[in-house]
Amino acid sequence: MTTTPSAPGGPGASGGDFAGMAALVTGGASGIGAAVAALLRDRGARVAVLDLDPTGAPDGTLALKADVTDDAAVRAAVDRAADELGGLHTVVGNAGVGAIGTVEDNNDAEWQRLLDINVLGLVRTDRAALPHLRRAAVERPGHVSVTHTCSIAATAGLPQRAAYSASKGAVLSLTLAMAADHVREGIRVNCVNPGTVDTPWVGRLLDQADDPAAERAALEARQPAGRLVAAEEVAEAVAHLASPRSAAVTGTAFAVDGGMQGLRLRPT
Ligand code: NAD
Repeated sequence: MTTTPSAPGGPGASGGDFAGMAALVTGGASGIGAAVAALLRDRGARVAVLDLDPTGAPDGTLALKADVTDDAAVRAAVDRAADELGGLHTVVGNAGVGAIGTVEDNNDAEWQRLLDINVLGLVRTDRAALPHLRRAAVERPGHVSVTHTCSIAATAGLPQRAAYSASKGAVLSLTLAMAADHVREGIRVNCVNPGTVDTPWVGRLLDQADDPAAERAALEARQPAGRLVAAEEVAEAVAHLASPRSAAVTGTAFAVDGGMQGLRLRPT
């Protein structure tokens, strides 16, 4: 585990919804996680980013290199974040990877890798963070939360996403079970369910297409809203769920999907 030289605490660090709070964002060096880390920073949090490759961590955040499949590295990074930021109030478990295919297309090793990162990665992060979160919940009731980045794939029945959907279904169930286990400790646990979000992840998928521009246009046309979701729009939902404004909200899944799930439309 290494750190970049950037110092925690960025613009607005002294005010906003997250004033005096410390946050850890996994997968916070790209896409949705980077947008979340930047927004929490701008709203006053001291922010640590845990990422396999933390070079893209937003300025003013504490960048920690760790792989969420490595329990010891995750523990070390979480403890270091709490140590350097002065505790931990907010955990955003967001690191995740995708896989395309039906149940026949991915072998056991591919399934296990996906579950190891997308599901156990959250378990390892949350397990390491809970002692810190408990302490924070005693000091600042209503201010302590875990938010997972799930996906509409958890419940939508998307084609060609068997392993990914199963992993996100587990994330949804994990969120609900953790919400029940920790509600009396003052630790709220929620998730966001993004639709298709315009991140480097989607960029990588489009790059594999014969005609990326045409593929992108087709992807947009399939969205009920006619466009992809912006990472910043998902970050707004995460920030809302994680802020003390949502002190009564736990065990909920917040769709940020341009209507993909609620309108009962399916990508074709
Ligand atoms: P992204 O690829 O832009 O960012 C993912 C980040 O996670 C990267 O910085 C990467 O280095 C990090 N990461 C990956 N594996 C890791 C590991 N083993 N340990 C530590 N860090 C690791 O992707 P994104 O689109 O921002 O996706 C973030 C989350 O949002 C994922 O959980 C994904 O399932 C979810 N999501 C994305 C979309 C979408 O359309 N982009 C839709 C729904 C849900």
